[in-house]
Amino acid sequence: MDISEALFARAQRVLPGGVNSPVRAYRSVGIAPRFIHSAQGSTVTDADGVTYIDYVGSWGPMILGHNHPNILQAVKDAAADGLSFGAPTAREIDIAELMISMVPNIEMVRMVNSGTEAVMSAVRLARGATGRDKIIKFEGCYHGHSDCMLVKAGSGALTGGHPDSAGVPGGIAEYTLTAQYNDLDSVRALLAANKDEVAAIIVEPVAANMGVVAPQEGFLSGLRALCDEAGALLIFDEVITGFRLARGGAQEYFGVKADLVTFGKIIGGGMPVGAFAGPKHLMEQVAPTGAVYQAGTLSGNPVAMAAGFCQLSMLNEHPEYYEQIERTAKLVADGMRQAAKDAGVPMVVNQIGSLLCPYFTDAPVENFAAAKSSDLDKFAAYFRAMLKRGVYLAPSQFEAMFVGTAHSDEDIMRTLTAAREALAELA
Ligand SMILES: *Cc1c(COP(=O)(O)O)cnc(C)c1O
Repeated sequence: MDISEALFARAQRVLPGGVNSPVRAYRSVGIAPRFIHSAQGSTVTDADGVTYIDYVGSWGPMILGHNHPNILQAVKDAAADGLSFGAPTAREIDIAELMISMVPNIEMVRMVNSGTEAVMSAVRLARGATGRDKIIKFEGCYHGHSDCMLVKAGSGALTGGHPDSAGVPGGIAEYTLTAQYNDLDSVRALLAANKDEVAAIIVEPVAANMGVVAPQEGFLSGLRALCDEAGALLIFDEVITGFRLARGGAQEYFGVKADLVTFGKIIGGGMPVGAFAGPKHLMEQVAPTGAVYQAGTLSGNPVAMAAGFCQLSMLNEHPEYYEQIERTAKLVADGMRQAAKDAGVPMVVNQIGSLLCPYFTDAPVENFAAAKSSDLDKFAAYFRAMLKRGVYLAPSQFEAMFVGTAHSDEDIMRTLTAAREALAELA
């Protein structure tokens, strides 16, 4: 038994499944999870002292690599001033002003502590602002674990085999309608059947919790048009895509305007932060100016704001980072396609921006049903073979590979060498 395995045994006695978030338990890949001791740049080092090239990046936040010296310094400086006050601070204005300067169509921001909170609150705001109750989401899109969003959700809710959680009242789930990603007709049908009842359509502009599925030409702009027609709000859940696809996120990348945008992951620079944002006329409906209640004891925490502000500042000042990470992701995707072809293993690699995901299938993956057709046993074997060769991937088929600026050309070469060997082993 190595140290990670021993820690896992200990953890399982005091934490359900040994973890504080289900996907970390490695349930779908058939081994004990690696316990991480530390991380630097593009790598993580486990409790046994083994170092891996990391494509999880804390599920997205570490776009500039682990332990970036500027962010570390910003956190230390902020911490020296005090960890939390429960009172307004200048740092909250700094990050809000910066976000508003980077992201199109937002005029005001409310900071929260996680992506889940951000979505939950944005949905409440959409309901409050429209006076309607129903929400349309897409099968396989994940929007955190609030009750109304745990309907046909992706990510960890998928591999658990229970897309709908126990404990969510049927009456609440009834307000959540599900459409098919990349299928405007499925949205049209729901809007027609629920005329004047739909408060919002919420979408991951790139679906990154069923692997990685990009929106087809016209899908997002089609949602925009359908929302306008139906008097519903369009919510872009940019917890993954925000500050990742481009400085201004998916709205900038695809040129489609959302009414409300949710953020998480990157926005905290590794600290627990989320946010929702939109135009003034909507955001002022949030308490204390408006009737939509939302609050948080630790919201806008000064240390978290300092980390987020520092990371967003660097992304804002270095537009070339976006070209760099997209190029890296392309090289990895192309290399993996070639490796699969050479090994005779059926594989489709979806890639957009710095997000990518291999599926073990030979049919294109454009929606949730197609994502589910991937051979999950093959994925598990591939995951284990890559881990053995020093490449740390998300332990589930339905998660993205996250590329960041710290991934070097040597990391790419080592990753592709590992992939060639791993795929040859699978064939
Ligand atoms: C991760 C994620 C969330 C939930 O964020 P948490 O910080 O884990 O609560 C919501 N939406 C999307 C698109 C995500 O990827």
